[in-house]
Amino acid sequence: MNSHRAVCNRLLWMQDSFGLTPDECVLQKTPFSFDVSVWEFFWPLMTGARLVLARPGGHRDSHYLAELIAAQQISTLHFVPSMLRVFLQEPRLEERCGSVTRVICSGEALTFDIQQRFFARFSAAHLYNMYGPTEAAIDVTAWECYRDTADPVVPIGRPIANTKIYILDEHMHPAPLEVPGELYIGGVAVGCGYHNRPRLTAERFLPDPFTREAGARIYRTGDLACWRTDGHIEYLGRTDFQVKVHGFRIEPGEIEATVQQHPTVRAAAVVARPDSTGDTRLVAYVVPNTDAVDSLPTTDEPVQEWGSIYDLYYRQDAPTADPLFNTAGWISSYTGQQMPEAEIRTWLHDTLVPVQAQQPRRVYEIGCGTGMLLFALAGGCSEYWASDPAGGAIAYVRQHLAQAQLAPEQVRLLVRPADDFSDIPQGYFDTLIINSVVHYFPTADYLLHVLRQAFKALAPGGMVLVGDVRNMHLLRAFHTSVQLFQAAPDLPIHQLRHRVQTQLLNEEQLTIDPAFFAALHHTDPQIARVEIRLKRSPYPTEHTRFRYNALLYKAADPATGPAVDTGVHWRHWQEDELTIDGLRAWLTQEQPRAAGVTDIFNARVLTDAIAVNLLLRPPHTPTTTAELRRQISGTNQRGIDPDRLRDMGESLGYTVQVGWSPNDAACFDVLFTRPDSTPPPLPIADPQRANRSGSGRAMPTIRSNRY
Ligand code: AMP
Repeated sequence: MNSHRAVCNRLLWMQDSFGLTPDECVLQKTPFSFDVSVWEFFWPLMTGARLVLARPGGHRDSHYLAELIAAQQISTLHFVPSMLRVFLQEPRLEERCGSVTRVICSGEALTFDIQQRFFARFSAAHLYNMYGPTEAAIDVTAWECYRDTADPVVPIGRPIANTKIYILDEHMHPAPLEVPGELYIGGVAVGCGYHNRPRLTAERFLPDPFTREAGARIYRTGDLACWRTDGHIEYLGRTDFQVKVHGFRIEPGEIEATVQQHPTVRAAAVVARPDSTGDTRLVAYVVPNTDAVDSLPTTDEPVQEWGSIYDLYYRQDAPTADPLFNTAGWISSYTGQQMPEAEIRTWLHDTLVPVQAQQPRRVYEIGCGTGMLLFALAGGCSEYWASDPAGGAIAYVRQHLAQAQLAPEQVRLLVRPADDFSDIPQGYFDTLIINSVVHYFPTADYLLHVLRQAFKALAPGGMVLVGDVRNMHLLRAFHTSVQLFQAAPDLPIHQLRHRVQTQLLNEEQLTIDPAFFAALHHTDPQIARVEIRLKRSPYPTEHTRFRYNALLYKAADPATGPAVDTGVHWRHWQEDELTIDGLRAWLTQEQPRAAGVTDIFNARVLTDAIAVNLLLRPPHTPTTTAELRRQISGTNQRGIDPDRLRDMGESLGYTVQVGWSPNDAACFDVLFTRPDSTPPPLPIADPQRANRSGSGRAMPTIRSNRY
């Protein structure tokens, strides 16, 4: 609780010292839960200067701030030093921000380095370092920075009007000049205490031993400081563990205590430390409690969220030309717009190919949504069971059964989450579909649980299609690709990197390493074969570039199952310097029964993978988004679209499998087999590499990049 008197004192001192005039303009950008916002609002209002409000959140976006300063001719503004450091990386500040005459820093230590960078970019503006805790009405000391100084320390100056600063030792005696002590604040600025926290108030707000004034108190800051011989104060750090991150006061101990409440954590330590870009981050180190991890109950929360997706998308009153092909909810992450129908039709066709190859008669589809697959498949089936956690989606499908000429007894509709297999017959279905919903599952364990049940429901020889799985190894590439697409050309690279990082941190959907499915194959004897398929489509959508389908086959009767041909002749795209023409010539002349090519640069994601690498390696990064775009443009010419090899192989009479390279997520592998042979599935995970036969050469691992 601060007094009106203290705030007025602070504002009047400011006007007395700086003399803001009506022809000046102050930027208000600090969120109003921070005390700095008080002077940003009231100082211009008191003096008749112009007040410009930044958009909410704008204080974090230095590109936006520079534009706003230029457009509004801002003269005075505030920065916490860490944000000033970021802002100073903005291009062309000299031309864009010539109106700025006064920059006020407070909230964290202002370093010599930031001061120097400021003066290098702003030739005429003044820079101030103010210090003070919220408990004492905003700021209690002030310092004007010198342009030409070799002093490596930026002091916090002297007390402002009607304010006293004491630097005391542990016996509450004033510390001698240049000797560190704890900083205490006295005078009109001292607040009234913490609301409803009498004990804490008594600990921090003490009777002032240096005055006879009745009721006067001093505030104990916890800051270490010393008086310099020139009469100014130097800030030295904290007496406790409190840290400042982007101007926020943080007690790492509070975070440690919260992290430790989690059952899987045995111990935790939290520190504030610079990341690779020099920005301060909180990092929590934990010692896991391994016993608890195994016994953790699975949460059903995100599944409920999945249920509400229907409300978000499908129930929109968007008219659909064909209700049996309801494309509501197909929103591009790049444009935020509905995806074109042709792209979705191609996607649907590609998804249906392996299902139709199975000649399905009894299907169970988990997560049928508005029935795009159901309406395409159910007509040819004797039974089509479909479930979805969204009652609205199931009602939609039921409503349109007649239009799709489906009899109600042919289609059984269930409202339930994916893991509810009650009343689902075992060993019954020839095809089970879990398409484009796995990313809504809460954990990989949940997926595993669903797949185990799905396998029980499957008849021998049956197949589970897990469609549209987001590739974990390409998650960063995906977010980079979207952010790069959306960014303005002059967006500084550090902000692009920050946006990607934020997307990664906020990512809530499940992404799966293709090796997860390979591991299933090794641990569950019921699973006879696992295939990972890259999508076939001429459209470079997020579905075709960053997602894949997994096909899991249940063992048929072993006596009747065909033996798999294992004699694959393997070649390496990069080391063997292959080209499409060279490969075609080889397949035509040699006519191998089974030929595989590994580590072919994937034109669909290569550019994004290169962008990821450039963004992650600071010394070589370009400085703006436009420069990054220039650097990566054309790099995908080194890549091959998987469909080109698929088309080429098929034109020569081969059956073609295309999957991700286990070595490098920006590459793919391809396997050509004669239709009369039974090909092995393409290896999915590294350990299988060693088993490859053919060229007789062990496959070297190029790199194990994830993007
Ligand atoms: P707040 O209440 O959020 O303003 O935080 C107050 C704390 O921020 C102080 O106790 C100091 O630890 C730190 N602080 C504020 N201004 C400065 C400054 N100019 N230099 C160093 N530390 C500062």
